[in-house]
Amino acid sequence: MSEHLSPEYLVSLGQQFGTPLYVYHAEKIKEQYNKLTTAFSRSRPRFFYACKALTNINILKYICSLGANVDCSSINEVKLAIQAGFSPGNILYTSNGIAFEEIIEAQSLGVIINIDSLSNLEKFGRHYGHSYPVGIRLRPNIMAGGNLKISTGHDKSKFGIPVDQIDKVLNIVQQYNLHIADLHIHTGSEIKDVDVFVKGIEILFDIIPKFSELQFIDLGGGFKVPYKDGDVETDMQLLAAKVEEAFASHPNPGGRPLEVWFEPGKFMVSECGYFITKVNVMKETNAATFVSVDSGFNHLIRPMFYDAYHRIENISNPNGTPKRYSVVGNICETDTFAWDRTINEVHEGDYLVFHNAGAYGFEMSSNFNSRYKPAEVMVKEGEAHLIRRRDTFDDLLRNQIIL
Ligand SMILES: *Cc1c(COP(=O)(O)O)cnc(C)c1O
Repeated sequence: MSEHLSPEYLVSLGQQFGTPLYVYHAEKIKEQYNKLTTAFSRSRPRFFYACKALTNINILKYICSLGANVDCSSINEVKLAIQAGFSPGNILYTSNGIAFEEIIEAQSLGVIINIDSLSNLEKFGRHYGHSYPVGIRLRPNIMAGGNLKISTGHDKSKFGIPVDQIDKVLNIVQQYNLHIADLHIHTGSEIKDVDVFVKGIEILFDIIPKFSELQFIDLGGGFKVPYKDGDVETDMQLLAAKVEEAFASHPNPGGRPLEVWFEPGKFMVSECGYFITKVNVMKETNAATFVSVDSGFNHLIRPMFYDAYHRIENISNPNGTPKRYSVVGNICETDTFAWDRTINEVHEGDYLVFHNAGAYGFEMSSNFNSRYKPAEVMVKEGEAHLIRRRDTFDDLLRNQIIL
């Protein structure tokens, strides 16, 4: 049975902690992680939670306790991961366009590093030569993912070193006798077609023989989760079968087994999250019946930024007559959460919950309009814990220097 929190319980959390409120259900994260670890039978891949999706320290600690590894997008995420209890050997820093100073810092912390430019690879060579194993982030020139903004592997993307520049990579590797331990590709987010990962493997298999010390290949993240009714999740069983089949049909160069890595972000934490808001105002117009909630894209930017669909449920009136509404925020900027959406009859004061709010929800929130960032709650073993208090007025002024 799939883990979820009931409407009544979510209403009680809204009442207890106030709104807007992010709620994360720990056992759902565990369920997702178990899907990953049980799907693969022959190979035993390593999973690195791409923590930019949700970095609350308690979530990191929980994911660490499950036995997962972690993938970081900044040196601060690396430091958060260390604070959460991950050991450096289980922390991957997949960099992109960063200053070389951050790579020096990551190296001194002892974490695994993926480098994504010829320039930083050269600097790495000059500094460390063969002494510190390192990975290379390649750009496979594959178009995949739900939306151009979240596609990273295509031929106009800034991410990774284009595979067609592999000769330049090899020159640097040779010049500095670099120890290349892994090759990395991440093609995008919301990939449901598992063949995209197989295509990635095919591209890497042409390149693998050029690196004699390779131990890992890292296929990135981007697994799809269902947002709407009828949406599918990336089929992990099928992915596992295809990946294992691809490996079986390509004997490893040198006969050494290569470990496969994945970096799931959204897959781990999207569905564990519920964003609870309260209806401030109802407004009838010719175009729509607007429902204004006590939030906006300052708290959940995905609908405005990615045209993302989040299922919205009236948890105060779960059996009400379905009607059509446009759900909007309260900030001074167009912030439509949903246009012409069927929701059980809404009244002012009702609690509306946005589903799938765990990934890139709180994490991308801001103080736009000088609104407070929401509080966060983690529900674990049936108990609700406040894991971040709501901002206060002092927080808005905290780093300002009043002249
Ligand atoms: C964002 C990111 C991921 C995770 O993507 P999801 O769509 O959340 O699974 C994985 N790897 C890298 C390098 C990323 O930047």
